[in-house]
Amino acid sequence: MIGIYGGTFNPVHFGHLRTALEVKELFGLQQLRLIPCRLPAHRQQPDVAADMRLEMLHLACADTPGFYVDRRELDREGPSYMVDTLGSLRAEQPGSGLMLFIGQDAFAGLTSWHQWQRLFDYAHVVVMTRPNCTTPELPAFLRQRVCTERDLLRQRPAGLLFFQSVTALAISATAIRELFAAGRNPKFLLPDAVISYIRRHQLYLSSEQDSECKQN
Ligand code: ATP
Repeated sequence: MIGIYGGTFNPVHFGHLRTALEVKELFGLQQLRLIPCRLPAHRQQPDVAADMRLEMLHLACADTPGFYVDRRELDREGPSYMVDTLGSLRAEQPGSGLMLFIGQDAFAGLTSWHQWQRLFDYAHVVVMTRPNCTTPELPAFLRQRVCTERDLLRQRPAGLLFFQSVTALAISATAIRELFAAGRNPKFLLPDAVISYIRRHQLYLSSEQDSECKQN
């Protein structure tokens, strides 16, 4: 079983990494692929180039066996649609089960994703929820796919929807970018190696900090 964890990762932080490790262990995944998007289809274009977001992911994942940084969305033209990503993984791994992991915030917008129903042709979808969270009202297409036994997911390669509670860490990339821009210390929210990279490359500066750096 291969897990897929997509995101903007602008930057990657412990909210991503901790949940990725938990689901890798819970679902006994051989591999958890973290896939940064090049051009997000549903949100503003990130101010940090995709290859830098990719490098930060490499730094963050280097010491974790089973974590694999996958650059396929960077090598594809146009918007990064998850359905295309899953289709290409399915073509490479015809015999493997695939599980797409998404956070609850992302799941709330799932039905606006490009060809969202087809995601289930290629993979199971696992929504990472906060503990004691109630399942939202679902459209019939999704309701029919809900599965409540984790073991069942292993018996099929794709097509089911599962809700998995994970440790809630209220960390967001937005808040981290704001800390950098305010000159505050983001330590303990993301790996030290990623913080060093951000400082070295002067990312996420406020416009005043940015013009000071350019003058110096
Ligand atoms: P931003 O603040 O820029 O929106 P983000 O922190 O939400 O970014 P993304 O790269 O957009 O990070 O998220 C990628 C995936 O990780 C999404 O499925 C999202 O729901 C999930 N995710 C992000 N932060 C957390 C967290 N703290 N705990 C669990 N899942 C998370």
